Amino acid sequence: MNASLESLTAERGLIPASRPSACPGLMRIVPARDGGLCRIRLYGGELSAAQAREVAEVARAVGSSCIDATNRSNLQIRGVRPGAEDELISRLVRIGLGPATPGSDDVRNLMINPLAGLDPDATLDVTPLARRLLDQLQRDARLQALSPKFAIMLDGGERLAMLDHPHDVWFSAVSADRFVFGLGGCPPVFDEHMPPLASVEQARVPAVASALLHTFLDLASPEQTRMRDLLNTIGIEAIIDHAQRKLDFAIERNASAWRRTPSDARRRFGVHRQRTEGTVSIGAQVPLGRLDANTLQALAELAPRMRMTPWQSVMLLDVPIEKAQPTIARLKALGLATAANEPFARLIACTGSQGCAKSFSDTKADARRLAPLLHTKGDVHLSGCARSCAAAHRVDTTLLAVAPGRYDLYLQAPEPVARHITIEEAALWLARSTTDA
Ligand code: SF4
Repeated sequence: MNASLESLTAERGLIPASRPSACPGLMRIVPARDGGLCRIRLYGGELSAAQAREVAEVARAVGSSCIDATNRSNLQIRGVRPGAEDELISRLVRIGLGPATPGSDDVRNLMINPLAGLDPDATLDVTPLARRLLDQLQRDARLQALSPKFAIMLDGGERLAMLDHPHDVWFSAVSADRFVFGLGGCPPVFDEHMPPLASVEQARVPAVASALLHTFLDLASPEQTRMRDLLNTIGIEAIIDHAQRKLDFAIERNASAWRRTPSDARRRFGVHRQRTEGTVSIGAQVPLGRLDANTLQALAELAPRMRMTPWQSVMLLDVPIEKAQPTIARLKALGLATAANEPFARLIACTGSQGCAKSFSDTKADARRLAPLLHTKGDVHLSGCARSCAAAHRVDTTLLAVAPGRYDLYLQAPEPVARHITIEEAALWLARSTTDA
């Protein structure tokens, strides 16, 4: 690895010290309608400016220049040309964006909040624990049997957190040295949410995570790929009993009354003070989760590092406070939404028919048509099929494609309120329903 890049990424704290040298085959590239698709799993969603420049460069060199921001705080390079796979993977590994061990790319699904380690009001800086957990996950070869979607959340109590995106195992800090945890869901905010199962000292979180993941592998049938599948068949007590047998300390079932402080997703926009005096974080929404190489390169000029978020947005980190306003102006000029009320702050669209053969419509193009017509509040999700790849969380309005340019409209209910409508009809329907409300 280039020495200056090595020191830059290590100094930023989320990149493990030891990595394999360039090693084609470490990461998967899957076929899509628009060419190969390479998911880059980011440690805590983070990219240094140097890494972002190289990702932009490699997306141009071996792909279509098109880069997706995902709802797991990762990036995807699209349109990878046949024969360019090894070069792509070698370049990503060289800048510290590959897995630590062969075969462990998919087990790196550890989510932390976008301002982990930076939010002065958080309960705990979870980034050192996240590094330890990631290292443990990648060095345990048995965990490679987990589904690529199997995910762990480590929540430090930051004011910005995705709290309606279900995780297989979640841990939430309740004090400087203690976490509560749960399975198949999210940290609970309200009494009707599933409460935590138990609490654990911070030092024992890796052991509990390992016990729970191995318990899942011991007990799940081949068809059961997520923790909720196992919960639905054998129930929570059987899982906890099995995990307990793998631990040399008692799981403390003492946390059921705990509720998390609510998070406001609008905090992903605007300027936020950081723990370090004189620096701020600045958030903006990537329209429809789609970047091009030039935009990513331009973002790299605005901050020494950035984090992608589960809202398919970006937080620029460590921006000197005096540069906050010029940075926001630059983000606007780049076409990013910088305020929660802008249409592209509220529109989500999956890949659509340009890149996915399952899609009934070009959802991204349709969302661009909807944007200037969208005068209502609330988020709108355009999905090319029922798999709902772009939004794992609940969204106010879902437009489910049924034919090119035609959608069924759902308002958080199993049955649609309107069928086979055009984008223009959907806009009218939304305007009318808001007026009626
Ligand atoms: S939601 Fe369906 S159409 Fe959209 S990207 Fe996923 S699989 Fe493809």
